[in-house]
Amino acid sequence: VTFSPSPLLSGLNPQQVEAVTAEEGPVVVIAGPGTGKTRTLVYRLAYLLGEKKVPPGDIAAVTFTNKAAEEIKERIDELLKGIIGEKAFTVGTFHSICLDLLRQVYGLEFTLLDEVDVQEIWQEVLREKAPAGRQKAKRLKEEISLLKSRGMEPSSPGVPPELKPFYEAYQERLVYYRALDYDDLLLETLRREEARAGQGQPSRFAYLLVDEFQDVNPVQYQLVRVWAGDGKNLFVIGDPDQAIYGFRGADHRFFFKLQEEFPQAKVIRLVLNYRSTPTVLKAACGLLKQKNPQLVATRGDGPRILHLEVPSEIAEGIAVVREIERLVGGATMLQAHGQCAAVGQDGVEIGDKSYSFSDIAVLFRSSRELKALEECFLKEGIPYRVIGRESFLEDPQVREAIDFFRCVNSPEDDFHLYRSLRRMGVKGEYLACLLEMAQRTGSSLWEFIGELVEGKGHYLGSVSREALTLPPETLPRLRHFRETLLIYRALADTQPAAELLARWEEERGPHRSESLERLLRVAARFNNLPSFLRGITLAQEADHERLGGQALTSEFVSLMTLHAAKGLEFPVVFITGVDEGIIPFAGQDGEEEMPMGKDLLREGDEFLEKLEEERRLFYVGITRAKEVLILLSARARTLYGRKILFQPSRFLQDIPPDCLKKKIWKDERRKKEAREEGWEQLSLFPRMS
Ligand code: ATP
Ligand code: MG
Repeated sequence: VTFSPSPLLSGLNPQQVEAVTAEEGPVVVIAGPGTGKTRTLVYRLAYLLGEKKVPPGDIAAVTFTNKAAEEIKERIDELLKGIIGEKAFTVGTFHSICLDLLRQVYGLEFTLLDEVDVQEIWQEVLREKAPAGRQKAKRLKEEISLLKSRGMEPSSPGVPPELKPFYEAYQERLVYYRALDYDDLLLETLRREEARAGQGQPSRFAYLLVDEFQDVNPVQYQLVRVWAGDGKNLFVIGDPDQAIYGFRGADHRFFFKLQEEFPQAKVIRLVLNYRSTPTVLKAACGLLKQKNPQLVATRGDGPRILHLEVPSEIAEGIAVVREIERLVGGATMLQAHGQCAAVGQDGVEIGDKSYSFSDIAVLFRSSRELKALEECFLKEGIPYRVIGRESFLEDPQVREAIDFFRCVNSPEDDFHLYRSLRRMGVKGEYLACLLEMAQRTGSSLWEFIGELVEGKGHYLGSVSREALTLPPETLPRLRHFRETLLIYRALADTQPAAELLARWEEERGPHRSESLERLLRVAARFNNLPSFLRGITLAQEADHERLGGQALTSEFVSLMTLHAAKGLEFPVVFITGVDEGIIPFAGQDGEEEMPMGKDLLREGDEFLEKLEEERRLFYVGITRAKEVLILLSARARTLYGRKILFQPSRFLQDIPPDCLKKKIWKDERRKKEAREEGWEQLSLFPRMS
């Protein structure tokens, strides 16, 4: 007889209860998708706070996105109904926890750089180190970040000699601006926390809980080790089969390393899947070639998985919106318009059931697929939201605004002050000179400029003003900028971020970019300037949301990459681009261009590893579906002006045929056209025999 001492535990199965209430020694929960790992973590938090009366300050929970952290806070509030009041426990990503530790606990003053800033620094480095500019900034940025995620410094033995000078130059720039990038945030924290632990101080968090543990990188693993102390209250959960960030340095083998380092760890496996129909689970287990399926369905059966083969990417978008209309009960209307020829009543078998827009997600491998999809959604007037990385943050007007407000928030931020002044028309060479002199006199650029425009000259030290030889228009510009900034600084004490931003935009004149409008809407979600800037700078893959289509409804179809869908679930899931070269992906992640032809025929272990990661990513996608799963393959796509023929993904062959219902959208004309025009046949990955 299982006896639950607390009503809190009544919504859990016995293995979950064991995980929630386990004491003494590390607990490792390894379990497949939909088995309630995240739910278990939330209940454990609630249990520790509500039942064990652990002081909130002793607890930290690490999530993969900031959005997930927000959701956990809300769930805890619901479960505990505000018992713990305002007292906060730590919950956030590794990055946000490290940022708070460095700033608040260690009192470190530094500028945190976002992705766009880092990209700019790389361009600076390249201008200096490789004026011929053969190396791509983006590529270098990723390679160095990978080294940093493994804790390697420029002088570490494993650093490839050709990268070393770039790595060194990059770090020098960061020191110059007193700035840290995301990787440094973790490294710097690790360094300090290890030193602290070395002095025999108790572990930082008496209770540490980590979700999505399969995707920690080496530095994050070290952080977990140092925070967890003797591991007595360490609790990690995850699923090695869902590891999808190897390309960024994550390594799911840390699961096993942890168990080696803590042989006394209690390993708990959850097998009951509460999310998906048996059909979806069977397909997922088939994909991973699991002989003994590790997931046991608890739900009743649902429709077969629909695999739709369509002629082109536009046809793919059309098929998606038509199926959505059918699923939400709009089929009759469409048929009346004679538009339902392609999929028709013959689509996914859902009987009389109908869904709402927010039950539905469309997942894709790369954001490149988004354009065709959005076009179709807009045309059909289907409301949608895009979750993912935001390119609007790269818009020049948006950068200008963010950089300015970063200076308002912390004028000591040399990097963003430098950028803002340059936009004001102060020449880079003078700025570099000013910054150098400021540094020589041991002050920030802001302080130095203050002295300069007020004519005190105190900080100028040995540098005479003549030596500066500033052009006559510069001083008034600096003065004006300084005054504006001081006004906003005073306003920031009382006004919310959105109001400050609106005022600033108004002063700029009527020409606002659409992106700037978006920034304003984002700002409205935050209380004050510091939290807005923090949110913008720390935002991860799945943290941003943009609405599209009809604004008249609060129901939206969700569009996002497979990576961003991690941890989520939807009654209806579409996966587009289930084609060789897309799933599995033949390009480089984070790279705009998909290299084609021979270059990508990478053989050997690296290739096999990548292929397996792609397989896991597809597995993550499939296992988001609760009931209805629709996979789409397009036979032809246009990429960078080239027409390319695709073949359905090899992974489809591993899905048991009885789970699948295949439909082909015939379009003979296209085929003929393709033959005549000699479309390129793409073979991106070598076929394995
Ligand atoms: P993923 O690996 O995809 O992150 P997960 O293991 O974290 O999945 P959850 O998201 O926690 O799984 O749970 C999946 C679904 O199952 C959720 O809707 C959750 O509410 C439900 N669920 C989990 N445990 C139970 C339970 N004991 N009783 C009823 N529903 C449950
Ligand atoms: Mg989860």
